[in-house]
Amino acid sequence: MALNLEKSAAAFAEAKQYIPGGVNSPVRSFRNVGGTPPFITKAKGSRIYDIDGNEYIDYIGSWGPMIVGHANDEVVAALKEAVDRGTSYGAPTLLETELAKLINQIMPSMELIRMVNSGTEATMSALRLARGYTGRDKIVKFEGCYHGHHDSLLVKAGSGAATFGVPDSPGVPSSIANNTLTIPYNDIDAAEKIFSEVGSEIAAVIIEPVAGNMGLVLPRQGYLRKLREITTKYGALLIFDEVMCGFRAALGGAQAAYGITPDLTCLGKIIGGGLPVGAYGGRRDIMEQISPAGPIYQAGTLSGNPLAMTAGIATMKIISREPEYKQPDYSRRLTIKTKQLTTGMEEMVKKAGLKLQFHQAGSMFGLFFNENEVYDYATSAQSDQEAYKIYFHSMLEQGIYLAPSQFETAFMSGAHTEEDIQKTIVASEVAFAKVAA
Ligand code: PLP
Repeated sequence: MALNLEKSAAAFAEAKQYIPGGVNSPVRSFRNVGGTPPFITKAKGSRIYDIDGNEYIDYIGSWGPMIVGHANDEVVAALKEAVDRGTSYGAPTLLETELAKLINQIMPSMELIRMVNSGTEATMSALRLARGYTGRDKIVKFEGCYHGHHDSLLVKAGSGAATFGVPDSPGVPSSIANNTLTIPYNDIDAAEKIFSEVGSEIAAVIIEPVAGNMGLVLPRQGYLRKLREITTKYGALLIFDEVMCGFRAALGGAQAAYGITPDLTCLGKIIGGGLPVGAYGGRRDIMEQISPAGPIYQAGTLSGNPLAMTAGIATMKIISREPEYKQPDYSRRLTIKTKQLTTGMEEMVKKAGLKLQFHQAGSMFGLFFNENEVYDYATSAQSDQEAYKIYFHSMLEQGIYLAPSQFETAFMSGAHTEEDIQKTIVASEVAFAKVAA
């Protein structure tokens, strides 16, 4: 049965009169899959609700942050208490140190940490630091990786930029883009070649160590280690953008899952518990170059905001809590649930006689309507977009809320129940049958 989205359609039409395209971030507009985006009015646990009264099992999780589920009781209680103490002071607080300490315990490579307000700010600041520290200008990034929307990194970018076919945005000066060198993901020869040509000019390699913005693409065996070796050899910094995969690929992020120590790490999403936040950090000697400890400038009126820190601390405490005797920890439990879901869905794919690619990294999962292996942006881009549209709309109609683009990732939360997983598998049977028809 088709969804009733009458009120959302009217709200979308009105929003377009005041907001470009009616949304404050492009992928929300559903342009890639067509149709009306549900306007959301509330969320609790694994569910979100729209203004037409529809209820959905949510696998977007605000694009990753909601790892403990929406409106988690502990997070909400901490926030309610915090808001009475004021919403921003522009002065140091105990909360900032507490969150930095929690992050450092989980990701020991982040010896010093600076809080900012978004993932974009984190990667932008990390690049400035890498350039200032090395005295070099060039940056290497990977096709289909998305690191936010600032000029240096909006070059061959993934996520909405890939979805909308503008991986290279107008407005990015060529003088800046020229310093961003892009190579294919998972191609070690390409990395070696670029370093052999201009290695002494490269300040940093920035990578999503588990890539989630060209769909979910995992690094091949030994790939990250090789990048670590090359960057060390040429004196360039290795920056892991774990804004998405941090605390998801494993509790300690992709750096723990793959046993690689980057020089700098960028975070966002989960560490703000659903409030606007980002952070970058890493080796003490490098981070000490940041103002006021060092000469490289970076600042922020709302950085370390007490509400964002409070939600982040509550979330980080939940996910890093010691498990009960002989029980798997939080991150492991999410990984098991995610596996249960993808295994069930894969059964349905077989039943429909389709051949798709399923990928999972901890509590992140994705599928490609593609018969062949997907290991970089070019192979991801060959996936069948029309099939994804059919699948997406069928799932939405059945109350399953997934990303409105194949170039995104889905997320499991601690609030998803066994029943949610079973419902999703049952819905996927219908959706895959529709694709196969
Ligand atoms: N880096 C990665 C890996 C991301 O996935 C994103 C956003 O999805 C960003 C950076 C940018 O973060 P923000 O949207 O908070 O600016």
